[in-house]
Amino acid sequence: MSNRDTPEEAEFRAEVRTWLEAHAEPRRPSGNWSDGPREHTREQEAAYFERCREWQRVKFDGGYAAIAWPSRYGGRDGSAVQQMIYAEEEAAFDVTNGFLSAPIALVGPALMAHGNPEQCERYIHPLLRAEEVWCQLFSEPEAGSDLARLGTRAERSGDEFVVNGQKVWTTNAQYAHFGILLARTDPDAPKHGGISFLLVDMRDPGVEVRPLRTMQNSNDFNEVFFSDVRVPVENVVGEINGGWAVARTTLANESVMIGSGAQAEDSAEALLELAREQGALDDPLTRQELAEALINQRILAMFRERMTEAVRDGRMPDLDGSVMKIFWSESRIQRADLGLRILGAEGALDGADAPKHGSWQTAALGRGLGSIGGGTHEVHRNGIGERVLGLPREPRADRAMSYRELVAHDASVVKN
Ligand SMILES: Cc1cc2nc3c(=O)[nH]c(=O)nc-3n(C[C@H](O)[C@H](O)[C@H](O)COP(=O)(O)OP(=O)(O)OC[C@H]3O[C@@H](n4cnc5c(N)ncnc54)[C@H](O)[C@@H]3O)c2cc1C
Repeated sequence: MSNRDTPEEAEFRAEVRTWLEAHAEPRRPSGNWSDGPREHTREQEAAYFERCREWQRVKFDGGYAAIAWPSRYGGRDGSAVQQMIYAEEEAAFDVTNGFLSAPIALVGPALMAHGNPEQCERYIHPLLRAEEVWCQLFSEPEAGSDLARLGTRAERSGDEFVVNGQKVWTTNAQYAHFGILLARTDPDAPKHGGISFLLVDMRDPGVEVRPLRTMQNSNDFNEVFFSDVRVPVENVVGEINGGWAVARTTLANESVMIGSGAQAEDSAEALLELAREQGALDDPLTRQELAEALINQRILAMFRERMTEAVRDGRMPDLDGSVMKIFWSESRIQRADLGLRILGAEGALDGADAPKHGSWQTAALGRGLGSIGGGTHEVHRNGIGERVLGLPREPRADRAMSYRELVAHDASVVKN
């Protein structure tokens, strides 16, 4: 029991813990399956993904998949505090829904905020039970930080849109049944104004998913090509050409999810264990960095407590999602780098050669997860400057131009 729990919250915490004890194994400082597959063969990755889906199903059937969501969509009409209590308790167990937490946190709230009742009815329940897997089709080769620059076209043809173009960095597209797609439906409008948010069936023959291998050797990323893919007009979420508002909801949820999730990963205790095992505890530099990792972990816990308190008091949390995301991601990078440094030359081994310690290398190579995924640190810092500190906005000369003019202008700059 947390010392701030009310009697009702303590009761809920005890209920959650009993349920977790009955359905999961406790986490250990090292060697947890929930840290991801040790080898990155396609078979191992697919098997890991299936285990994540299975855990999501178990959670759903237990009534814990989305505690604060409405029960008609598979939630339990619970509170945000209960959701946080569940996350705190689950972090002590060797279970995860892996990357599924991302599409669930992005698609569900976006549909509830902007979708129509038919869309919510059709898609949210199977999303939450992981019967249908989703991917996020936003980034393109020419549109990442400047997402509104995207060029994938969706042209109206009767009751359908015909989609052509390319997306990139699409996580888990190879497993996805559906995707949330941002596409340009009016090239003559300013770049933010001519975008629509579409729900696309990834099994359409015009959708081609090509894998991209990462430097961690994993196959999570993909390029996705669309060739005359027909999407019914009823699959537009929100207004036609009003997709930017839906995208903003999705992106805001993404950075809060990245910053406030993954509690188990915060464990600096695993680093302590590693340092002890490798005889590095007497090294003053290592001791200093271990202290930094422990302090960061404590600060993150305090950030979370601050958010929990605000939610408990019915206030909007006064902690910006970008601050959480940057701090979480930088702490993660510090921890991974220290793990590798403690390992020394052994840190260069991976896979079967490093059955115990390969996870430090994986974490160090995976630094982009937090520092690039869900928006880069630089872009989030710009946001903090403008939104939180009230600094002048970045000059945006292209806001008034239509997308078509913008592309022509960029082409002439490149030519000259
Ligand atoms: C783990 C991971 C998972 C991802 N999953 C998905 C996914 O499922 N679906 C999807 O659509 N995308 C996904 N992405 C892509 C991600 O959203 C983009 O990589 C990200 O938005 C950055 O865009 P970019 O790669 O085009 O970089 P760019 O925008 O080209 O940025 C290049 C560099 O320029 C800097 N920069 C750009 N603009 C500014 C500015 N205004 N001020 C200061 N610096 C600036 C950036 O910070 C960066 O250092 C994922 C990325 C990662 C790392």
